[in-house]
Amino acid sequence: MRLLSVRAVLLTVLTLLLTFGLAAFVVQYFDHAATWVEHPSNSHFYKEGKLHSLGTVYDRSGKILLSMEEGSIKYNEDAAVRTALMHITGDRDNNVETAVPIAFRSRLMGWNLLNGAYRFHSGRFNPGQELNLTLDADLCTTAYRELGGRKGAVGVYNYRTGEIICAATAPSFDPLAPPDFDRSPGQYEGVFLNRLFSAAYTPGSVFKLVTAAAALDHLPGAEDTLFNCSGKMQINNSEISCLAEHGEVTLKEALARSCNVAFAQVALELGAERLQEYAEKAGFNTALKVDGIYAVAGRINLAHAGKAELGWAGAGQFTTTANPLSLMAYVGAIGNRGLQVTPRTVADRNLLSRADLKAKKRVLSEDTAATLGQMMRNNTLAVYGEGNFQGLELCAKSGTAEVGQGEKPHAWFTGFLAREDLPLAFVVVIEGGGSGSESAAAVASKVLQAAANAAKVE
Ligand SMILES: [Zn+2]
Repeated sequence: MRLLSVRAVLLTVLTLLLTFGLAAFVVQYFDHAATWVEHPSNSHFYKEGKLHSLGTVYDRSGKILLSMEEGSIKYNEDAAVRTALMHITGDRDNNVETAVPIAFRSRLMGWNLLNGAYRFHSGRFNPGQELNLTLDADLCTTAYRELGGRKGAVGVYNYRTGEIICAATAPSFDPLAPPDFDRSPGQYEGVFLNRLFSAAYTPGSVFKLVTAAAALDHLPGAEDTLFNCSGKMQINNSEISCLAEHGEVTLKEALARSCNVAFAQVALELGAERLQEYAEKAGFNTALKVDGIYAVAGRINLAHAGKAELGWAGAGQFTTTANPLSLMAYVGAIGNRGLQVTPRTVADRNLLSRADLKAKKRVLSEDTAATLGQMMRNNTLAVYGEGNFQGLELCAKSGTAEVGQGEKPHAWFTGFLAREDLPLAFVVVIEGGGSGSESAAAVASKVLQAAANAAKVE
């Protein structure tokens, strides 16, 4: 009897140990499988520490952007496409953190938790090793060309579905022929940075879209109020100035003519807390997550802003910074009746979580979005010129962001098309580009016309 009970206890202990061991392994497996499989010592995927089998990445029309098999990397055959898409495909030394081969490594490697590192057979890729993007390679190439060697970013996305069709950022280079970066460090400053996702700039007047939304919601009679602009305004010992004397203006006219004095008055009436609240609703201080990649958050902090600083903040200056992608998502929400659909670059629906596919957020009330949209439409008709955007039903706002004495301001142009058949929102930012309504608007015009033409063909 005694022997039997000792054995029973021993068996129980062993069974328990086995169970705990298995449980621990399963937990570790689900937790760390990706790290184990993707470790450079795994010879299924790596040769001499470099990936030699990754699969194929396509654009929205089926153009090959990148394919990697048995040690050979193939990019698109057109150098202009390779350059314009380099921040998406990455370079050969994996310097671009936001690049798809890094963000979607497991998918491209073609392994999963159930089957492990299964491989393609009889010369054909396993379907697990394909990745289809929403990007239009031709449109990205047009956008990159229109930047004309200037640093900056161009983004275009469908504000109903979230599909990003254009994501171009400069400077860039042909990954098959990398230049000698050290020979012209100025030209290639931050070359591995995807400026659409990973940069943040002083917003200048595009921020007036945030101040205006708060005014529409919280200042009674905001649309009929007349603001008086004598070209400048004294707050304590600081002066807020405009480029011209705007006289008596409504909120709509103040937005079209980008009157700093009117928007400073609006900001003072709203107060710091309210303006901060609307900026955060618009996406400031939150990093936008696109297909698992975090964009950089734009920043605003009005907690300790004095009166003059609050005035400047309302007009888009002060210490506030804006991320181009996040700003594009905000203007997309204005176009989409106040609902923001999270932008994405991946077309394969099975790769996106249900949460990703339904990621919609109310940013503005339907009424506020509609009024703000009409004000942006008026900007085009009254200032930017309908002729430059023929047939696009363009609703937009420009920005010319001062960045310091003696430096040329950054040029912004952002907005959306009020077209049921072409629901696109966009952003253009050019570092040191000067006037937003001139340089950035000209790039937007070319890229949006190209997008409209491509949509006709589709
Ligand atoms: Zn003014």
